[in-house]
Order: sequence, then C-alpha cells, then structure tokens
Amino acid sequence: MINRYGFYVVVKNTLILIPRNKVVYSFSSKHKPVEEAVPGDIVVFETQDALGGQVVDESTSLESIDWSKVNPATGPLYVKGARPGDTLVVDILDIRVEDKAIVVVVPGHGALYDKEYSAKAKVLRVTRDWVEFGRLLVGSRPMIGVIGVAPREGEVPTGSLGSHGGNMDVALITRGSTLYLPVYVDGALLAIGDLHAVQSDGELCVSAAEVPGEVTVRVGVIKGVQPSYPVLDAGDKYAILAYGETLDEAAYRASEAAVKALAKEHGMSFEEAYMLGSLVVDLRINQVVDPLKGVRAEIPKRYVSLNSLLST
Ligand code: CA
Repeated sequence: MINRYGFYVVVKNTLILIPRNKVVYSFSSKHKPVEEAVPGDIVVFETQDALGGQVVDESTSLESIDWSKVNPATGPLYVKGARPGDTLVVDILDIRVEDKAIVVVVPGHGALYDKEYSAKAKVLRVTRDWVEFGRLLVGSRPMIGVIGVAPREGEVPTGSLGSHGGNMDVALITRGSTLYLPVYVDGALLAIGDLHAVQSDGELCVSAAEVPGEVTVRVGVIKGVQPSYPVLDAGDKYAILAYGETLDEAAYRASEAAVKALAKEHGMSFEEAYMLGSLVVDLRINQVVDPLKGVRAEIPKRYVSLNSLLST
C-alpha cells in the first residue's frame, strides 16, 4: 500500500480506507459521502467485482443474478476544495487484485450479441504475473473499469459512462497513470469499482477478468479549469476519453477534442491542427459493449501539454 512516494507522504498526509461494503450503484450528487479527503491525501478504495460477488463459481446460474447489484462502485469520497469548474486529479498509486477472477458471457450482450450461445461463467486463477485461462497464460494487467465523479445533474448508473467518467473500461487506467476528471459538484464525489485483472481494448464478450481488490490513489485538485472529457496521463502519452451512442460519434468527439487541444497548444488554425492530428493522434477503442461506446484519442506528450488538454 505504501508506494514509491514512500514514507514521507504518508507521514504528512492522511491515509483513508473506504471498505468494500460502502458502495453506490450510480454517480449522483444525492449520495452522502462516506469519507472526506484533502488534496494530497492517500485513499484506499476496497472494491467488489463488477458482478457484486454474485458469481462464486462456474455452476452459478447467471439467471439468478440480481442485475440491480452489478457494477458497485466504492465511495463516494468528498474532496475538500473541489468545486464545479475545477479538475479532480487522481493518481493511481497501486491496484491489487485478489487471486480469483470471473469472466462471463451473456446472450444478447457484447460485440457478437446476435449469435446463438448460452450464458456461461469461467473462473480464472490470478497470480502476480498471470491470469490463467484454462491452460493458457494471459499477462496480468490490473486496471480500473469504473471511476468517476458526480455528473452535472441527475443520476448516472455506475454501469454507464459520460464526461464524469463512470464505466469507461479503459485498459490504460492502471497503476502509475493519472486521471483528470471534471468536477461538477462540491467535493467531486469520487467512486471507484469494477477492477479487471486484465482486459483488452473492446472488451469483446461484455466482461473482462472481473475481480475484487483494492485501489490506492492520491487525490488532488486543479482550480479553475476542466476538460470536456476525462483525460488520462498514461506515461509517454495523454488520452482523451470520449464516448458516444455509436463508435462513430465517440470517434468524432475524441477527434474534435484532440484537434482543439493541438490548436491551443501550438497556436494553430483549425486546418493546421486538423492536419497535425492526422499525423500524431491515435484513435483507439475502449469498449464496444455498453449502450454508450468509448473511444480515446491518444496524443504523445511531445505534442501537447496537460494545460491545453484541461481547457478543451
Ligand atoms: Ca466495466
């Protein structure tokens, strides 16, 4: 839990633990915060798996699942000083997952929703380096599926996504990355859940290696600016996490935000930034299996700064 930032940070700041029974099933300003943090605090979110722990083994009938109890997100956390118009900074310091993950297929869902097939669950053993899919070893890459703040208005189920974040299922939201989320309500109201021991872009079958675990983050606030979509610092590149009712719409929005950021960064006309975008921006699919699809625009850091990205 104590990480590369070491002892010093822990002594100077509070370490807060939110247990996995403190969950919400929507992002909304109506939820009472379960904990309060100040910028710089380190917070551990213990999380349930996306199925709420209802699938215990391969004999569990998927018909017996209470679908109102899926996608639990632990929280919400109130971050002092975060106000509408600001950006919440979430440094993902660590992700630990348990040693058993579940992947399910459900007829009518996923990229191949119209095929004829049965509901099925598969248990996957998880070790530090691997996820065991039968005799096949898949590299373990723990990531966060659901992470977000209260939306501007109303209530968004934790199974959906939007500019507030939510069920984005972005494989790059992993240990060492930093997520920048627009703040819409006082305290931001951060909640986290739906860890995956591994997931590839697209999340074809509608679920990944769903696993309980714990996420350690450090929270911060950037005052007076906010992006239109969550922005991820993924090491050597930034990613703008857009969404839409179709992949086309999501790709349009990701492109639009990327070109806007390039124009701002370099003081370019739309035409110049549009052309530069063709050369340096990669559009990637996050997931294609939820009612809202996710596309990210990846921009290498040498072409854009965080400052330009946060004011798009
Ligand atoms: Ca998910």
